[in-house]
Amino acid sequence: TPPELIRNFCIIAHIDHGKSTLADRMLQITGVVSDRDMRAQYLDRMDIERERGITIKSQAVRMPWSTAEGTFALNMIDTPGHVDFTYEVSRSLAACEGAILLVDAAQGIEAQTLANLYLALENDLQIIPVLNKIDLPAADPEKYAKELAGLIGGKPEDVLRVSGKTGMGVEELLDHVVAQIPPPKGDPDAPSRAMIFDSVYDAYRGVITYVRMVDGSLKPRERIQMMSTRAVHELLEIGVSSPEPTPTKGLGVGEVGYLITGVKDVRQSKVGDTVTNAQKPSSKPLPGYTDPKPMVFSGLYPIDGSDYPVLRDALDKLKLSDASLNYEPETSVALGFGFRCGFLGLLHLEIVTERLEREFGLDLISTAPSVTYEVVTDDKKSFTVTNPSEFPSGTKIASVTEPMVKAAILAPKDYVGTIMELCQSRRGTLLGMEYLGEDRVEIRYSMPLGEIVFDFFDHLKSKTAGYASLDYEPSGDQEADLVKVDILLQGEPVDAFSAIVHRDKAYAYGVLMTERLKKLIPRQQFEVPIQAAIGARIIARESIRAMRKDVLAKCYGGDISRKRKLLEKQKEGKKRMKMVGRVEVPQEAFIAALSGD
Ligand code: GDP
Ligand code: MG
Repeated sequence: TPPELIRNFCIIAHIDHGKSTLADRMLQITGVVSDRDMRAQYLDRMDIERERGITIKSQAVRMPWSTAEGTFALNMIDTPGHVDFTYEVSRSLAACEGAILLVDAAQGIEAQTLANLYLALENDLQIIPVLNKIDLPAADPEKYAKELAGLIGGKPEDVLRVSGKTGMGVEELLDHVVAQIPPPKGDPDAPSRAMIFDSVYDAYRGVITYVRMVDGSLKPRERIQMMSTRAVHELLEIGVSSPEPTPTKGLGVGEVGYLITGVKDVRQSKVGDTVTNAQKPSSKPLPGYTDPKPMVFSGLYPIDGSDYPVLRDALDKLKLSDASLNYEPETSVALGFGFRCGFLGLLHLEIVTERLEREFGLDLISTAPSVTYEVVTDDKKSFTVTNPSEFPSGTKIASVTEPMVKAAILAPKDYVGTIMELCQSRRGTLLGMEYLGEDRVEIRYSMPLGEIVFDFFDHLKSKTAGYASLDYEPSGDQEADLVKVDILLQGEPVDAFSAIVHRDKAYAYGVLMTERLKKLIPRQQFEVPIQAAIGARIIARESIRAMRKDVLAKCYGGDISRKRKLLEKQKEGKKRMKMVGRVEVPQEAFIAALSGD
């Protein structure tokens, strides 16, 4: 297809504003999916995506669309809408010339509408503003058309109105895509360059790499090179998704399609990397490859210790399809053998643990999420700490820095006070506040990421009756007065409970954990002190009183076989006990204390 007849676009929207539903309608209206084969959220292939109604992996699909000017190839690139996957969103946007900015006509602009719009503008995309769900009785297109026009400039009348559910206005929208979005530009004679905007693992075919051709072309059986790693592969198959993979004779300037080389590991095909021809390589990669950086860390442990090898294999397998997952072995006094895993964010953490449990049948316990701290000691040594129990103690600490984020919260104006209170209690600094319409306010805060990963979103939602939406982006590191609080049982620290908290919050954390453990740990034959400490200083204390538990005393010395049975039984019970020093702690107690209810 010549570039003049190609349009590459994506749909950007806040979660639940109807992106997947609109994409479904487009597939149907352009005839690439027959009515008989249609099922809801056709492009959201992963089970978890369907169940949670979110898009994790972006996909591209090619649709024919005829207007008076001819038959066009529309390449629609579905982007993940969530903050954790911002890097993937921005790579998908870089593969397009235009974006449909979709807003729920009953909700208006939300935090991720803005975040995605800013990313689209940074990529110089032509924006088509669209209100969706106009079939809803609660829809207020007049009000929100004004809001949207106010945001991006232009007249409220120019904001299109559609219903992804009924299909109303969708054909007109496709005509606008052709008319308003510019065709791709590129040099057909230059050495070939294609940008990878997605790569997914398929159990049968290996890695499927989605690319957007920028210059030149790629053909089957050519040798291709990944510019960041210089790795060379043979192109076994090249084609377009419409939406099922369909091999073609090649991809030319501006085209969007997939490559298969037989590699089995997505790390060989990194999102953002440039693919070139190995014989006639380009000397200049396309802009913008970065390794996505893990932001949130958690220890994952099998509840049944003998599942450790299963967990290791499962992580190895997931890594094939998720290059942003990081892990390394870790041992914990309390929890045994496990892995310290790095994630892009909290949702990523949840998705990975859910996949491990669902696809590999594992029962897991995860430690409280932590971020990355940079610690410098008085003797100028510096450490990166992702596991609180490794936070240096006993040495003098010169400084600790923690990752900060710029958070944007959108909510109705009645909640401003509540939201500010919450942000302030999480060490936030107000950056600014703006009205986006009559009653909607955007509140911007600088906050430590460590405060956000700790159930901030849940609190925000519950304090605003679900009306607030949140988006955030990393904004560098900042020094803070942070300390490690250890929890000790009979003087022995329990690593899984160590936490890095602000000095002002250390006491509250210590009291909370000691009280919780007192309720959870059964009495022993001796008294067990439970303490919270910063270094050598005890900041909170409880104790579990002693109990005399002599099982044999009940046997009155008589029946020896009965005695043996009792001893056997006691041994059985001990298996699920973990020893912390001399203290026996049932594993359930650790799990309950960590899950926090
Ligand atoms: P996404 O998160 O942006 O992909 O949103 P979905 O496409 O998954 O839609 C979220 C919810 O809104 C689903 O329950 C859809 O059925 C519903 N929905 C989407 N589009 C429309 C629409 O045009 N009208 C109505 N009434 N509901 C819609
Ligand atoms: Mg979706």
